[in-house]
Amino acid sequence: MSQAADILAGATAGDRRLLARAITLLEARNHPMGASLTHAAVRRRNGPGAPHVVGLTGPPGAGKSTFVDAWIAAARNRGERVAVVAVDPSSPFSGGAILGDRIRMERHTGDDGVYIRSLSSRGHLGGLSGATSEVVDLLDAAGFDRVLVETVGVGQSELGVMEVADTVVVVLTPESGDAVQAMKAGLLEIADVFVVNKADRPGADRLARELERSVALDEDAGWVQPVFPCVAVEARGIDAVIDAADRHLAWLCDAGRAGWVDRRGEGRVRLCLDLVCDLTRAAAAEGLRRDGLDAAVRAGTVSPRDAAQRLGEPWTR
Ligand code: GDP
Repeated sequence: MSQAADILAGATAGDRRLLARAITLLEARNHPMGASLTHAAVRRRNGPGAPHVVGLTGPPGAGKSTFVDAWIAAARNRGERVAVVAVDPSSPFSGGAILGDRIRMERHTGDDGVYIRSLSSRGHLGGLSGATSEVVDLLDAAGFDRVLVETVGVGQSELGVMEVADTVVVVLTPESGDAVQAMKAGLLEIADVFVVNKADRPGADRLARELERSVALDEDAGWVQPVFPCVAVEARGIDAVIDAADRHLAWLCDAGRAGWVDRRGEGRVRLCLDLVCDLTRAAAAEGLRRDGLDAAVRAGTVSPRDAAQRLGEPWTR
């Protein structure tokens, strides 16, 4: 058996060390073993069932990590095996572990039913969602029932990461502003469930009512996004959110609708395009050096656009 096949077999059979190794190799994107690691038996490709992939996003400080921690505990009470992928595009130097994760890791150390891992974008342009999606597939093959994908921030790349999810939970707080701001950030389109966290603070009811009004305006949505006030630090309101996420998956999988096929299919196409971005960028950088074009671009004797057109010629024919 090749080394990649050994790693994959171990990673999907419950060997944590090999799972971590496989994820690191996938995160590196252009690693020669990467392709073999994507040949796992992924349940999500063939049916609507487990694992349910839930994306959590929202502004920094909204309480996403706290919420995820409470979700892990609730999931364990329900007998689910749960994995968390924390995507941290703002931290290119984190090298696979952000502080919050280490703290959370400690709490769940020794629990075979919990796996937590952070991914950093490390300068990938389009590849953030791609890496996430491959890691989700690996966790699927490793038999987790629920995969929570948590992102830091609400930029474009985070919205892309959310395409990996079956259900997107957007976490807001009274401090994060009003519903109009959430709409402007594109959160209304991607949210399937809203959490108004820090409901122990003033303004939470008002924000929840505003969100409910905005959601009601979105007439042809089919699924009306529910809004839940929560206090993540006290694990208050978590169960209602998990139940709503389950209802959302059931709605997606409803006979005749098959929304899960569209969502997951869309995610795979996006992953393919993201990988093309990564691969062609690396090839173009190499071509720039090989043809001596980089010196000419640096010196300003060849314009960046002319150089790009020469390098991109095979793609634009
Ligand atoms: P993230 O950046 O969205 O992951 O936010 P964190 O989970 O790190 O939380 C940011 C801060 O808000 C922390 O100090 C949390 O203890 C606090 N926090 C989280 N949930 C609540 C809540 O429901 N109420 C209050 N008052 N504070 C909270």
